Amino acid sequence: MGSSERKRTIPTHSATENTIVWFRRDLRLVDLPTLLAAADSARNALAVFVLDPALIKPSGVRRRTALIACLNSLDEALDGRLLVVRGNPVEIIPDLARRIEATQVHISSDHGPYGTRRDAAVEQHIPLVRTGSPFAIAPGRIVKDDGTAYRVFTPFYKRWLDHGWRAPASTSASTNSWIDPAAVTGVERAELPANVKPVCPVGEHAAREQWDEYLANGVDQYKEHRDRPDLDDTTRMSVHLKWGTIHPRTMLADLRDHDSDSARELRRQLAWRDFYADVLAREPRSARHNLNPDFDRMPISTDTPEAQVLLAAWKAGRTGYPIVDAGMRQLLHEGWMHNRVRMIVASFLVKDLHLPWWWGARFFMRHLVDGDLPANQHGWQWVAGSGTDAAPYFRIFNPITQGQRYDPQGDYVRRWVPELREIPGKEVHTVGQRGIEVPGYPAPIVDHAVERREALARYEHVKQAR
Ligand SMILES: Cc1cc2nc3c(=O)[nH]c(=O)nc-3n(C[C@H](O)[C@H](O)[C@H](O)COP(=O)(O)OP(=O)(O)OC[C@H]3O[C@@H](n4cnc5c(N)ncnc54)[C@H](O)[C@@H]3O)c2cc1C
Repeated sequence: MGSSERKRTIPTHSATENTIVWFRRDLRLVDLPTLLAAADSARNALAVFVLDPALIKPSGVRRRTALIACLNSLDEALDGRLLVVRGNPVEIIPDLARRIEATQVHISSDHGPYGTRRDAAVEQHIPLVRTGSPFAIAPGRIVKDDGTAYRVFTPFYKRWLDHGWRAPASTSASTNSWIDPAAVTGVERAELPANVKPVCPVGEHAAREQWDEYLANGVDQYKEHRDRPDLDDTTRMSVHLKWGTIHPRTMLADLRDHDSDSARELRRQLAWRDFYADVLAREPRSARHNLNPDFDRMPISTDTPEAQVLLAAWKAGRTGYPIVDAGMRQLLHEGWMHNRVRMIVASFLVKDLHLPWWWGARFFMRHLVDGDLPANQHGWQWVAGSGTDAAPYFRIFNPITQGQRYDPQGDYVRRWVPELREIPGKEVHTVGQRGIEVPGYPAPIVDHAVERREALARYEHVKQAR
């Protein structure tokens, strides 16, 4: 590219002419306050996304594919002006800032353990201006009267409602004047494959369309249907919230127009997302360790050869417990699993197989298209009993009765476990218990009644810590 063209796209007469908008988990242009802050501070903005191997590597293929599709859609909305670079943001962002003579970089804040460290390292080189976050209310804001954090959801939720959230920001592609990345010399632009096929439609446009469709046709049954995997009638917005192709504030604003128990229930679920982000931001260690250290005393079966065999059966959806197997196969096939079934399969891993929750959490993070550290690690710890506001350990999910209750006709199981398609109605949940041999389908790998007693015996070790 000739130097005259470069001059036209990147004015250089003042350092405040140019800035960077560094996209991370906010791959949208509507309701993005960062864009307003960037427009206030500089005439031109360079839109950047860094493909950081530290984050890309642990993501499974589905999440990576969804990310690429989101980036392609953002680039299209920006008329090809999204600069995607591969590498370490701690080197790349300050380098880009030097190249375009930007004196600051605009972001929405990241409160995760890795993101916090990364941003602190970038800030050693260039100031970051944080505007907004991926949450309705940013972690750290909701505190008790004495300034301490909530450890139980319901009072957090009450305060969250009282606190309220901002109205959506009025932004679009034209809020900023975007610098043409082609004019930034000496930078290797990552070429993204154009025709990736994510497991579900993603990108800002798809998020909005899906949300509008749910508001029109699904939201009024949310409360009644949300626990029923057979009905498959939740929003499925988690992948969009994961990549920030829609902001929860936008969703909350729309829900205000729906005065119903269902709309309130959905709002409450969005508060769980904020709650777990708050917990993880305050206790980053809890991404990998028990939040409640009493649970460090829980005997877990990690180093027996049998543990690996049980784990492999769980991962493959071949435990002989139909609802567990259906869930795991949905995960492997769709990269998504219904919330009720996430709880059932997690409980089975922890309390029937006596394996560490973090083994299951790691597998989920690899396969989920919506894999999100706070929701996942604390969803697992909720089930395992070691987290904030966790289910009491001694309340152990029975995979048979859970199946009968939440998949009453067995339709969900038959959808995902083809070997069981010929078994009619709710009978499908009890094939293993009735000793029925189904060709190709395994007998139960453990006896739930026996493992329940074993789990409760192990729990005595935790109680002794008190
Ligand atoms: C073991 C386990 C692991 C989980 N891992 C993840 C994960 O990696 N990523 C993820 O987004 N959610 C996770 N969840 C929470 C929940 O299962 C999903 O958010 C939900 O199933 C996504 O489907 P949906 O968008 O149709 O949800 P809806 O029921 O339509 O809910 C709307 C939104 O509210 C939020 N939400 C709902 N329930 C929860 C919850 N329990 N915790 C936090 N946020 C919630 C999500 O953002 C969701 O998209 C996990 C739950 C468990 C029990």
